[in-house]
Amino acid sequence: MEVLHRFSFRLLPPVTLGLNSAKSAPLYLSTRIPLSRPAFSNPDPLLTPRMPLSSSAVSKAGWFLGLGDKNKMSLPEIVKAGDPVLHEPAREVDPNEIGSERIQKIIADMVRVMRMAPGVGLAAPQIGIPLRIIVLEDTAEYISYAPKEEIRAQDRRPFDLLVIVNPKLKKKSDRSALFFEGCLSVDGFRAVVERHLDVEVTGLGRDGQPIKVDASGWQARILQHECDHLDGTLYVDKMVPRTFRTVENLDLPLAEGCPKLGAR
Ligand SMILES: [Zn+2]
Repeated sequence: MEVLHRFSFRLLPPVTLGLNSAKSAPLYLSTRIPLSRPAFSNPDPLLTPRMPLSSSAVSKAGWFLGLGDKNKMSLPEIVKAGDPVLHEPAREVDPNEIGSERIQKIIADMVRVMRMAPGVGLAAPQIGIPLRIIVLEDTAEYISYAPKEEIRAQDRRPFDLLVIVNPKLKKKSDRSALFFEGCLSVDGFRAVVERHLDVEVTGLGRDGQPIKVDASGWQARILQHECDHLDGTLYVDKMVPRTFRTVENLDLPLAEGCPKLGAR
C-alpha cells in the first residue's frame, strides 16, 4: 500500500524535496511528481511489465535517495493493475520452504521494493510472484509528514517491519472506517474503502515460526489491503463508487451521496 499523505504533495516545494534532504525522500516519492519517474520507469512498461530495473537505474535511484552502493543490485519492478498476477489468488507457501534461499530472497526483495517505492505494505503478487507473502511497515518518519488531524482520525501509529507468510485474517469487532487509500500497483490514484478497524492476522514469520498480529486503525487497514492482494483483489474492486480520483484531486469534495470519511 502506498504511503498515504492527504496533503503531502502540497506541503513542500518538490524541487527541494529528496534532492537536499534524505529525510524528505519518502515524502517526495510518495507524491509521484514526474521528476522521480525516469529513474524508476521502464521505458516501455506495457511490453515488459516485469522486467527488473537495470542496475544503472537502481544505482541512480540509490544515489537519489542517498542510499549508496548497497542498492546497486537489481530490484523487481512493481506490477501494475491489469497484470493477471494481481487478479488471481496466490498460492500458499510450503512451510518447509520458508527457510529456502528462494523464499528468503523473495522476502528480502519485497522489503527492499516496499522501502524504495516507498510504501507501507507490499504483497508478493505485486512483484509478479503468486505466493501468499505480505510485508508491511509504517515509520514515525512517514507519519510525520501527514497532518496531525489525519493521523488521529486514521489511528495511525508506527510499527516495525512485519513479514507474514500464509496470513489468515479475521475481523475482531464490528467497527469499521472509511478512508482514502492507495496502492503501489495503481499509481497516482486514491479511492475511499471501508475497512474493519480491528483485525487479527495469524501466519508464519520469515523464520517459519507462527505469528499472530492484533491490529487496529491504520495498521489493520494495511493488513486488509495486503491480504486482499493475495486473493486477487485490488482496492478498486471494493472501493466506494464515485470516490476514485487522482492524488492531485484528493482534497476535492466527495460526490453527493457518498458516505462521510471516518469511523462508523
Ligand atoms: Zn496494494
